[in-house]
Amino acid sequence: MSSYACPECNQEWNGYWCKPCNSKHFQNDFNNWTSGNDKTDKFIQDTQLNADKGWKVIEWIPYDRFKDVKQIGKGGFGTIYYARWIDGSIREWNIEYQRWRRYHKVEVALKKFDNFVNFNDVLNEMSIHLKARTEYVSIKFYGITQDPETHSYMMVLLYAKDGNLREYLKINIINWWIDGSIREWNIEYQRWRRYHKVEVALKKFDNFVNFNDVLNEMSIHLKARTEYVSIKFYGITQDPETHSYMMVLLYAKDGNLREYLKINIINWS
Ligand SMILES: [Zn+2]
Repeated sequence: MSSYACPECNQEWNGYWCKPCNSKHFQNDFNNWTSGNDKTDKFIQDTQLNADKGWKVIEWIPYDRFKDVKQIGKGGFGTIYYARWIDGSIREWNIEYQRWRRYHKVEVALKKFDNFVNFNDVLNEMSIHLKARTEYVSIKFYGITQDPETHSYMMVLLYAKDGNLREYLKINIINWWIDGSIREWNIEYQRWRRYHKVEVALKKFDNFVNFNDVLNEMSIHLKARTEYVSIKFYGITQDPETHSYMMVLLYAKDGNLREYLKINIINWS
């Protein structure tokens, strides 16, 4: 057995996560939990079957597995609670005891979706989070739980003490920009030729009381942009309900979001 063979199946592995073995461990447990909703169950199961690394797994976490729950934030994005996760996140399979070895003392942020009426919107938001994660973006998405009082689903995220989480949660990644961004002038038709199907992130300024602060933040973004930092700032729109202005930014699936968060730390701390 080489040092690169999984101790369970003896197949080649990366040294810490054997996808075939761990998929089976998850699958064997499917009958032992339910979120109470088929779509949510399927959503969680899919991440468990397809994860090729431990941090890609999300779990159904019953609400009673949290303690010291307290509200820490509220805004257009929803309500955020701080909590301690009693069991902690999955680390690796313990062959001897046939159960997951876990990281202990995990502090989490629970995100409740106040403004979503439609359950599909909640699932959509969660899958966007899954897609936006990379190994280096430090906002871990651990799983889903349910508020026992309102029965609304909540995302379980890493609780980050610095500005990262707060800023991250303010970004509402939602939309396709119908027209798309400007590419070049079309001489024949005398109008702008545009890139189509541009996926954008809309960033709300819930916490700014002063409108000058909003403008200031936007000019910091303009200054912080370079040709190489690819978080594009496309424009400004307005939330029709709250009338607050929103920045229209490129929605980036890869590490670009990390760069974006770094910019926030530098300028806002
Ligand atoms: Zn294996």
